[in-house]
Amino acid sequence: MAAYELERKAACEAARLASRLCLAVRSEMLHKENHMEKAGHEPVTIADYGAQALILQHIAQQFPGDGTLAEEGAADFDRLGTGEQHEQVKRHIEQVLDREVDLDTIREWLDFGKGKNVSRMWLVDPIDGTKGFVRGDQFAIAIALVVDGEPVVGVVGCPLMPFGASGAADARGVIASAVRGQGAIIEPLGEGPIRPAVVSEEKRASAARTVESVETGHTDHSWSAQVVRAANIGGQPVRIDSQAKYVAVADGRAEIYLRGSKDGVYRERVWDHAAGMLVVEEAGGRVTDLNGQPLDFSVGAKLENNLGIVATNDALHDTLLNAIQSVGEESGR
Ligand code: AMP
Ligand code: MG
Repeated sequence: MAAYELERKAACEAARLASRLCLAVRSEMLHKENHMEKAGHEPVTIADYGAQALILQHIAQQFPGDGTLAEEGAADFDRLGTGEQHEQVKRHIEQVLDREVDLDTIREWLDFGKGKNVSRMWLVDPIDGTKGFVRGDQFAIAIALVVDGEPVVGVVGCPLMPFGASGAADARGVIASAVRGQGAIIEPLGEGPIRPAVVSEEKRASAARTVESVETGHTDHSWSAQVVRAANIGGQPVRIDSQAKYVAVADGRAEIYLRGSKDGVYRERVWDHAAGMLVVEEAGGRVTDLNGQPLDFSVGAKLENNLGIVATNDALHDTLLNAIQSVGEESGR
């Protein structure tokens, strides 16, 4: 079996379990008061906790010695969630696993591998783009295995993304996955054929399609508009929540993903980028920070050595880095 195939398969299966829970919660919660608020006013829902518990129980079963860095944890689950919400998480997990589970087991799953200092670390964002999820828009389930600071397996599940190019009429739900050195693939969340993920061959900036965050708090929209202009890119960026943006680039649906720092201070979280970056790179694309530096996943939960993100189909990367630099010089940054 190819290197890391067991891990890729396990992460895809974990993403499928999480996706089932997220879609079940979504169908119950749309149009209701549906989230709690954690530090920094970031929303968190019962689906974030349910999905993380499902993902980590699956990884724990197969790779009990591995460590994890995951967005959620048992302490916040207890602190922020009401008794009723805890019961909802339990009910949804039981539905997906088709067996009874107690709350203490769920707490153990949530914290599986936490604080362990080992060479194999799983980075997990059970719902990336929680703000999108709460709005009823795109979200992703992101799982990456990092070995000695290098992402080697990346899985991004996008339950609401159309599988093919035919847009909304198409069946929804894709999983993009990659193993370092082995290419990237796209498969439907349900049954169906697998195909390679390959970036677009477009070399003309004028024809390039760009994606960026929906949330003004997560990226600088006026900066990206300037960059798009400086690079002579035709249209304005399309806004999509979550690492679905990386999947759009990996699958040739966009050429460029721009994420500009709002304040020059925020450092990106590793679970927001490791899986997506690997999928884009293995699909033939390139991912760096705004200075053209590779992302450094070896320094903990944050990308302390990087600022912002630019992911492209490779052909347009230098054009983008030059445009970013010229915009930076103009604005004195
Ligand atoms: P997106 O859906 O691409 O906007 O990204 C969602 C992610 O943005 C969340 O998972 C957060 O971890 C992350 N995030 C939160 N605050 C910020 C910020 N100030 N700048 C950049 N990303 C942020
Ligand atoms: Mg996230």
